[in-house]
Amino acid sequence: MIQIDEEKIDSTIKEKKPRSIALDGPDGLLKKIQSCAHRLSEKYQIPVYVIGDTSWGSCDLNLHAAETLGVDILFNIGHTISMEKFGDKVIMINAFDDIDFSKIANRCAIELKKNFGKISLVTNSQYLPSVQKVKEIFESHGYEVVIGRGKGHLNDAQVFGCEFYPAYDSKNDVEAYIFLGQSVFHSASIAIVTKKPTFMMDPYFSEYSEINEIAQKLEKKAILSVLKAQDAKTIGIIIGLKEGQFAKIKALEIKKMLEEQGKKTLLIAMTEITDERLLSFQDADAFVQVACPRIGTDNHFHKPVLSVPQAMSLIRILKGESQEGFLQIKHWL
Ligand code: SF4
Repeated sequence: MIQIDEEKIDSTIKEKKPRSIALDGPDGLLKKIQSCAHRLSEKYQIPVYVIGDTSWGSCDLNLHAAETLGVDILFNIGHTISMEKFGDKVIMINAFDDIDFSKIANRCAIELKKNFGKISLVTNSQYLPSVQKVKEIFESHGYEVVIGRGKGHLNDAQVFGCEFYPAYDSKNDVEAYIFLGQSVFHSASIAIVTKKPTFMMDPYFSEYSEINEIAQKLEKKAILSVLKAQDAKTIGIIIGLKEGQFAKIKALEIKKMLEEQGKKTLLIAMTEITDERLLSFQDADAFVQVACPRIGTDNHFHKPVLSVPQAMSLIRILKGESQEGFLQIKHWL
């Protein structure tokens, strides 16, 4: 079950005595966040706002909402990163899942032993506290277990959907990756980036599965979008307006490079990049978005929507260069 670190919220409120606060987090935690809001508003008798907009990651903190509401503190729940606060207003609150991996980890270790001896464990924020215990289980079955070092916002063993340092940096030292949790979103990207067998270990269904086939489909989709965008006459370049995804300079660089290759471009700024919104931009034959690299690959769009690595790949193709390996990088930005 997910446990929110409510003690930290309480101690922060007692220390800073805010006049009002906001709570924010991923959709999967909204039910718990609502209960937490009820408890806090009763206990402290202050306005507690639950931000109902999406919060996909630590890149999507809804700071603008906090400013507009005029709250003193924004608690961002469930996006554990190596930093505890962001600026003056945002306090990061851990939310960990305490489910026991022992049963599935033992089974996975026994069954994979015939093919692998050296593995790495990776996960998203919610299962970070389970990594050490799962490591010991695999070691008890004779594996050598590598825990990749964190970097930037990432803790050891942690990956985001677009940032993979702990996995990437250990790829020459291990034979396979085991992802702790239920996220195809995260595990498939590890398979794409490392090109190694990658298994997703799901403690709720007590099963594990190899994720490389799904990863290949995602990668193929990403490559096809790039190839389709080659013929575009006009390319819309979208700057995401979410604070942690704002990359105007990168957008301007890509605009210049595309124009040098004969493309006409149109700069667009928006907060939520959806197929529905893009249908209004009929002049554009394809788009490059410099916000979240997963938007184009993990959602359906009628026209190609390229991330930064895909855009760089397109530029290489237009110059007559090879596009090989454009997704096998540490950070898809
Ligand atoms: S994958 Fe997208 S939502 Fe997740 S951290 Fe990266 S930019 Fe943010």
